[in-house]
Amino acid sequence: MGIVVQKYGGSSVADAEGIKRVAQRIVEARKDGNDVVVVVSAMGDSTDELIDLAERVSPLPAPRELDMLLTAGERISMALLAMAIGNLGQEARSFTGSQAGVITDGSHGKAKIIDVTPGRIEQALGTGAVAIVAGFQGVSQDTKDITTLGRGGSDTTAVALAAALKADVCEIYSDVDGVFTADPRIVPTARKQSRISYEEMLEMAACGAKILHLRCVEYARRYDMPIHVRSSFSHHSGTWIADHEAEAEDMEKAIIAGVAHDRSEAKITVVGVPDRVGEAARIFEALSDAQINLDMIVQNVSAAATNLTDISFTLPRSDGQTAMSALSRIQEVVGYDSLLYDDQIGKVSLIGAGMRSHPGVTAKFFAALAAAGVNIEMISTSEIRISVIVDEPQVDDAVSATHRAFDLEAAEVEAVVYGGTGR
Ligand code: ASP
Ligand code: MG
Repeated sequence: MGIVVQKYGGSSVADAEGIKRVAQRIVEARKDGNDVVVVVSAMGDSTDELIDLAERVSPLPAPRELDMLLTAGERISMALLAMAIGNLGQEARSFTGSQAGVITDGSHGKAKIIDVTPGRIEQALGTGAVAIVAGFQGVSQDTKDITTLGRGGSDTTAVALAAALKADVCEIYSDVDGVFTADPRIVPTARKQSRISYEEMLEMAACGAKILHLRCVEYARRYDMPIHVRSSFSHHSGTWIADHEAEAEDMEKAIIAGVAHDRSEAKITVVGVPDRVGEAARIFEALSDAQINLDMIVQNVSAAATNLTDISFTLPRSDGQTAMSALSRIQEVVGYDSLLYDDQIGKVSLIGAGMRSHPGVTAKFFAALAAAGVNIEMISTSEIRISVIVDEPQVDDAVSATHRAFDLEAAEVEAVVYGGTGR
């Protein structure tokens, strides 16, 4: 008998039927003799609908109030789920993030968890009840205001609670059977990975794989909390994310964990930057003062005749406007010619710990892109990842071609997308 934390995403609890189906599963886990803590997301697309609603009332809603509004979505699903479980004869009690002891910093819309004090959850478990916790929310230590952890943040609530409760496993239920070698919506023959290491999963999540929230993987690695990603619509075993060190010798271990893609970035080019010491620093200081997180950076060799160079970088599209304004303000001081903004780009990344010991991965990746007629605009690498920026309309082709080149195809279609609108 141990503690199991289960997290159910919005598509698993999209309607009354879904809530009842999930309640059944939770009761089964309780009957198996486990203490069960459930973290739940808002029903279906209701978080998006609340955002739309807020924007109709005010073009720039106050972050404090937006957080207050969005946390209502998870309150609805947690209460309904507790009722459905009660109806099956199992006691269940729901708690907001704040009641569950999720303490965060004060940055609305992207709060970081700084402590978890789940006293009330332990009490509920002590009486034999199932505890249901609203995902994606907490309370600020300083201001005592309600905060949210950023889109997709319920995954992080679940892992943080699992770590604080010293649970045996954190199960993350969604509408696909696990982590696939590519997004099944692009590559229907993508293969389910039975296990992935924390470091590979971190790269996948950072490169746009939406199956898990990036911070939840960071948390899991820090506390060595195994995550089992699986579907609430089937009973198939999913993907285990853990440190599989004992199996490091396993020759069967895949070289490549998967191909990820991301359409959320934009590219800015600063044209005609004088090639002098300190100019790049000035540009990136301005961006950092504007709180902008950069991804890839490329500086071209300066033309000998002019001694001018171009600097390009990628950033979240949502920060595009802020970055362009910040750079315009320093045009005089830096003395660059102009700025180019391009949001018709996409990032395609190949990830796998096996790259460390297998030469030739980059060559094969680039050859596959070339054969598919995809032009590479920028490149960046880590020890276990190669990422390229391509034209947005070519993202799907690039992902499929890469997936094929590395023989990641499953023999038969495994990737069933059971629910969700993909919104
Ligand atoms: N409901 C929130 C969202 O849609 C949090 C989550 O689902 O994890 O982003
Ligand atoms: Mg999610």
